[in-house]
Amino acid sequence: MKRETLLHTLAHRDGGYVCRYCKRPLDPTSYNWNNRAGSLTIDHYVPLSAGGSDELDNMVLSCRFCNMDKGAKLPIQWSSERGIKLKKMKPRPSKPRNKESK
Ligand SMILES: [Zn+2]
Repeated sequence: MKRETLLHTLAHRDGGYVCRYCKRPLDPTSYNWNNRAGSLTIDHYVPLSAGGSDELDNMVLSCRFCNMDKGAKLPIQWSSERGIKLKKMKPRPSKPRNKESK
């Protein structure tokens, strides 16, 4: 999957280009800008090192700050340390909707 497609898919699933954790709006053109606030990254919700998968279900949009800060911690552990309320992961839709033609 192309990166742009992946970003779009995640944004569509999660309601826009917004950090999963701090809700900061993300600039879709800012993918992996170095060390800039608002920079968009893709985070493994459950870190690979903790047994997370490399599937879409386990990927979320995150700002660079949260991504770096969370690191290899489990989301539940990190969020309780930070006092962040996490949204539940949505189950994967059984069929991709094709409303948008492009
Ligand atoms: Zn964030």
